[in-house]
Amino acid sequence: MEHPLCQSCGFVLLEENKGTNRDQSINGEYCIHCFQNGEFTDSSLSIHTMEVRLNDMAKIHNELSMEEAQHIIHLLPSLKRWKMDFI
Ligand SMILES: [Zn+2]
Repeated sequence: MEHPLCQSCGFVLLEENKGTNRDQSINGEYCIHCFQNGEFTDSSLSIHTMEVRLNDMAKIHNELSMEEAQHIIHLLPSLKRWKMDFI
C-alpha cells in the first residue's frame, strides 16, 4: 500500500511523523514538521521556499538524493497546501 504524502512538504507520511490538530488528535494530511497544534509551523512558507529548501537538503544530506528532491518539487503544486497558488 502506498503511503500518503504530507500535503505541504511532499514527504511520506508515516504513523510516527503525522502532525497534530488543535485538540492533539492526529492530522492525517500534514507531517509533524509542517503542522502542529492545528497550525502550520511556518505560516510564511511559500512553494518557492520549499523548492529551495529541498534542493539545499539534497546537497547536504545523503538521505535525500537530487532525484528525490526533484521528484518532490514536481509534486508540490499538486499538494493541498499549494494548489491555491496555481488557480
Ligand atoms: Zn510536511
